[in-house]
Amino acid sequence: MGALFMNEKAPFTQPQITIEGMSLNLGIAHGHAYMYDPEYTEDTQLSTKQKEERFLHAVDQAVELCGENLNIFQEQNRELILVQKALLQDPAWQQRVIDEIQSKQNIAYALDKVLEDLDLAFGGDSFWHARFQEVRGITQLVRQCLAKKEIEIDKTKPIVLCAKTISPVEMMQFDQANLVAMVVEDNSFLSHGMIIARSRGIPVVGGVIELKKFINNNDELLVDGDLGRIYVRPLSAIVANYDTSKKPQFSKPSDAVAKGAVISRDGTPVHILINANINEDLECLERSTIKGVGLYRTEIPFMMSERWPDVQTQTRLYLQVMNKAKDKFVVFRALDVGGDKTFQSLHKSFKEPSKGWRHSRFTLQRPSLIRLQLRAMIRARVTCDYPDLPLHIMFPMISEAQEMRFVRELLQKELDREKNLGHAAPTTVRVGAMVEVPSVVFQLTQFLDLVDFISIGSNDLFQFFFAIDRSDAVMSRRYDFLSRAFMQMLKTIIDQANAKGVSVSLCGEMASRPLEAMALLGIGLRYFSINPNSVETIENMVQSLDIWSIQDCMNDCLSDNPFAYKAAHLSIRERVMELAQIQQTQLS
Ligand code: PEP
Ligand code: MG
Repeated sequence: MGALFMNEKAPFTQPQITIEGMSLNLGIAHGHAYMYDPEYTEDTQLSTKQKEERFLHAVDQAVELCGENLNIFQEQNRELILVQKALLQDPAWQQRVIDEIQSKQNIAYALDKVLEDLDLAFGGDSFWHARFQEVRGITQLVRQCLAKKEIEIDKTKPIVLCAKTISPVEMMQFDQANLVAMVVEDNSFLSHGMIIARSRGIPVVGGVIELKKFINNNDELLVDGDLGRIYVRPLSAIVANYDTSKKPQFSKPSDAVAKGAVISRDGTPVHILINANINEDLECLERSTIKGVGLYRTEIPFMMSERWPDVQTQTRLYLQVMNKAKDKFVVFRALDVGGDKTFQSLHKSFKEPSKGWRHSRFTLQRPSLIRLQLRAMIRARVTCDYPDLPLHIMFPMISEAQEMRFVRELLQKELDREKNLGHAAPTTVRVGAMVEVPSVVFQLTQFLDLVDFISIGSNDLFQFFFAIDRSDAVMSRRYDFLSRAFMQMLKTIIDQANAKGVSVSLCGEMASRPLEAMALLGIGLRYFSINPNSVETIENMVQSLDIWSIQDCMNDCLSDNPFAYKAAHLSIRERVMELAQIQQTQLS
């Protein structure tokens, strides 16, 4: 929930307000609020039939709007618009709304009721939470068409888009505008709106409850995406303190970087990989310091498909990615689906697609699904422009060593099958797993014998460790990634992997945040899989840091000896911050 502070007595103008929200994407921007809130006042005189017609007409207009956006943005974010279009055309969703209208509801209420019912049926699942926002997105879009509200934007002004939530298609409508930041009430890291914002480097602050109460249309806003803070009608002194000039993205790496690594001030190589969600994320692989893709989320393009993609479709997609990555490696993560509306047909055999039905629990019930995906990955590797490179496959949400054995067997069956068919096989297949379920941490010895590499999924590991919903603003701020218990667990994983010679990276959001990344360097992590827009920040941090000193600091912080823990009154976050100040480490 956004906390509020009034900072100034200004007799003639409204005072500055500071709203504390949650950082959803880093960066600083200064602009004018555009309150996006499609509202519709219904004509109560309409008959049920007329309301139905009006609703269907608004749906057609919304579909048309998606079509226009598809034409404008042919390559960019095409899949994301397609999913909105598919959702709008979903007869089941349309029928639910019509049923509500027929039970004497007005259109706006019917739209909201369907949204609410869907949330009640599927709520509680973080994956569904992201998809729920898409349904909310089309609800808003239809409301906007009902209200026939044209979005009027002053293209000369930098705009901060303020909304309850924002979907990709809605965001597209602001594409011609000078969109510099976003403020949203809802806050899922996994929503597509956020994915696009990250890909475009737009700062976002989320978790701001009832923003309409505090922000008026056209208000001047200073958005601090790093701290998750918004200054409404900021004082000139505050604005002067911030550097809102955008950093050029992916400038040439400096001399202190080597091919495939960044070198710390005291000479330690640190490896930067990227997380790829959409094709545009692959652009930055041109940068010499980036070693490859540490996490390719295969479920994102699948989420866009109206039908379950067949082997050929999947092979084509992976092949494109491999060719784009050229001689750099790509870690393909097997499907991490759960509670996803787009694949409703897959859920039919399960009573309820709730939080637990994610990757292995789901695919272990449907081994054929995962086998088809593995087949496509194998075929893509041998037919791409770089067939001699190893194929990297990573399995998410593994909770027991036995599950790892099972997915490895499936992979072996697929490799044997290709061989029996006389098809080429990849020269090397490297099999990895995500460490994101705490149960695995208690069986690391067995588990590490079954993998070639691991990647720590700190987003899920954190939520399962602290028993919180990672998309909940209040909860996720209550606990700290840099808490002693969580850092201790990460250190155990890293130490044990290093001792066994298993390569370990971290691909959760914390690796993209400079202060957290600094602490991770201190507990021995050397491979960071981060979002492309954080590459320069993390590189700058590494180059301006003596790793030995952060190692000392973290040893101190995690020591069980109270005498070794020199500044017991400070949190790890405060101690790392203090060290960054002393060392003049660049954190932005
Ligand atoms: C994670 O859990 O940290 C992770 C990277 O996977 P995702 O965010 O896709 O669940
Ligand atoms: Mg995860």
